[in-house]
Amino acid sequence: MSLREIAPRTYAYVQGDGGWGLSNAGFVAGNGDALLVDTFFDLPHTRRLLDALPGRPSTVVNTHFNGDHCWGNELVADARIVAHKLCREQMLTGPAPAVLAALAQGDGGGVPAVEYMKRAFERFDFTGITLTPPTEVFEDTLVLDVGGREVHLFHYGPAHTLGDAVAWVPDERVLFTGDLLFLDVCPLIWDGTATRWLAALDAMAALDPAVVVPGHGPVAGADGLHTLAGYFRLLLEQGQALHDQGVPVEEAMVRLDLGEYAAWVDIERTALNVQQVYNELDGVDTPVNVVDAFGAMAAAAAPHPLGGGCC
Ligand SMILES: [Zn+2]
Repeated sequence: MSLREIAPRTYAYVQGDGGWGLSNAGFVAGNGDALLVDTFFDLPHTRRLLDALPGRPSTVVNTHFNGDHCWGNELVADARIVAHKLCREQMLTGPAPAVLAALAQGDGGGVPAVEYMKRAFERFDFTGITLTPPTEVFEDTLVLDVGGREVHLFHYGPAHTLGDAVAWVPDERVLFTGDLLFLDVCPLIWDGTATRWLAALDAMAALDPAVVVPGHGPVAGADGLHTLAGYFRLLLEQGQALHDQGVPVEEAMVRLDLGEYAAWVDIERTALNVQQVYNELDGVDTPVNVVDAFGAMAAAAAPHPLGGGCC
């Protein structure tokens, strides 16, 4: 975990390999003012982030509602907290920190989906978190002034979630993507489609960023956006072919040839993504059942009896 100045007065805080819950944050310093992009999954991780920053933010942006981007908000509750309106809605209606705290303390009961979640989140402490929602929301775009520096927020969801937003710092051409970009780590299509996500990647590339800070994974240039686009194109092409052949979605997961992406962290999340490709092809638009999704990922992570597969 480290803080790095990626452009003058513009920082990225990158956590580990970007696997489950290990999200990144951004920091933009202006004259006598500063902005933080995202807090972390629990209070200890967020405290470490805040201690590492070169200043105290007066504004915090949550890129989306997943806990690894906003469950540390109470530690910056004196700041103005800004997010897309659907981010706020999903934060208030989504899984509560207490649910994950209970799950972490339980024994898993031998249920593969629950055992998998316990393993995925075991490094975090979900106790004592008070959900602290954004104090201010926007719809399509919002321009913030950070001590004389502009930070533009754009809503490019739904892709990963409904309220996906990015923070664009035009003076240094730095883009904080939230979870619209995963690098070296498998993405998750929770609320959008692969096609919509490709459109979001196009929109981000059109900004012509010099530096891109993903929600998970290492800092990159604009090429990082093309790398993730390649994963979704592969998924759409192969998913379409398997769907056309009538291959059941559980088997599709095993038959995919993920090429270079097979080595990405948490690649078993592809089980959810290929389900979403099938849903897109079938015109199914029902929300994902999170427990089912974790069950599919748990199955994909386990050694496959046929010896083939994704990971
Ligand atoms: Zn995340």
